[in-house]
Amino acid sequence: SQNEPSIAPQPGIMEISLYQGGASKIAGVENVTKLSSNENPFGPSDKAREAIVRAAHALHRYPNTDHASLRNAIGEVHGLDPDRIICGVGSDEIIHFLCQAYAGQGSEVLFTEHGFLMYRVSALAAGATPVAVRERDRVTDVDALIAAATPNTRLIFVANPNNPTGTMVGLPELERLARAVPQAILVIDAAYAEYVEDYDGGAELATRLPNVVMTRTFSKIYGLGGLRIGWGYGPREIIDVLNRIRGPFNLSSAALDAAEAAMRDRDHVTRCQTENARMRAWLAEALTEKGVPSDTSCANFILARFADVDTALACDEALKAQGLIVRQVAGYGLPNCLRITVGDEASCRRVAHVIGQFMAERA
Ligand code: PMP
Repeated sequence: SQNEPSIAPQPGIMEISLYQGGASKIAGVENVTKLSSNENPFGPSDKAREAIVRAAHALHRYPNTDHASLRNAIGEVHGLDPDRIICGVGSDEIIHFLCQAYAGQGSEVLFTEHGFLMYRVSALAAGATPVAVRERDRVTDVDALIAAATPNTRLIFVANPNNPTGTMVGLPELERLARAVPQAILVIDAAYAEYVEDYDGGAELATRLPNVVMTRTFSKIYGLGGLRIGWGYGPREIIDVLNRIRGPFNLSSAALDAAEAAMRDRDHVTRCQTENARMRAWLAEALTEKGVPSDTSCANFILARFADVDTALACDEALKAQGLIVRQVAGYGLPNCLRITVGDEASCRRVAHVIGQFMAERA
């Protein structure tokens, strides 16, 4: 059958389901607004686009292999040692490197119940045992993670803020976790860090503790999801290990140049932060008024909660009929919720209007 290939892959691989999502079209609907992948509605900095045009003149050349220029730019902006930074094909690739290098058969990879899907995928791909640990009211529960750890735990992934819940825990809690489980690397996945005020994404912890790594991305606030670029920061020893399994040309020259230009355009970042914070608050309040509550989100999306699964699915259909694509999150164990990216003002108003109509008709 389809599930039993004649040449068997490594154990664990067939437990991975193919990725569902990312659709940007709806059959029969012309004008579609995609609010399902937490993308930046304003796109990247113009400087990033210009860098790509320049990179187009040297496409016959292999890209730079040590990523020094981009790592220096990241180091300057974030006040970090560039030698402790590694760049990858999205933060997905950094997650993958961590699992390949540190997990394997007989080891366990922990993550939170409603954590990002790639942790499980990368753990299984490495032959390790993925362990989903319960949360408390859709928030990371550090005590539960500590209780779930065993001598075989090698990695603990905590997205902070988390996708799709949008919630986060304080850095002292994460420090407590890292110290309680010294046999494992705590990976603070800070893909949405830029949407949180006064938050370093765990950079200071990753500077100070021997078992903390922070991952970041250019896919969210920098608006470069299509180029696939992310980075990790941590103890020199761990970054050295990850660099051994990184392909020498994992990032294209266009991606490297665009990411550097995007990193240096701080005004664009500030504008996107301000607009996200404004519309996130507006959307959350508008939906709550219409009977659809959400936890306070620290990211660029809202997890809208419905009374039951049927209502959530029907609301998704109503949004689709109006050309609005949001994300069902049953795969994350939240079947009665829809994750809605905070778009520009016009999209937020449309979403609120359609959900308002839907709830009024349903009442
Ligand atoms: N971590 C989290 C929590 C995410 O939500 C995402 C994107 N959906 C990623 C990592 C991966 O981002 P990328 O590979 O595009 O850097």
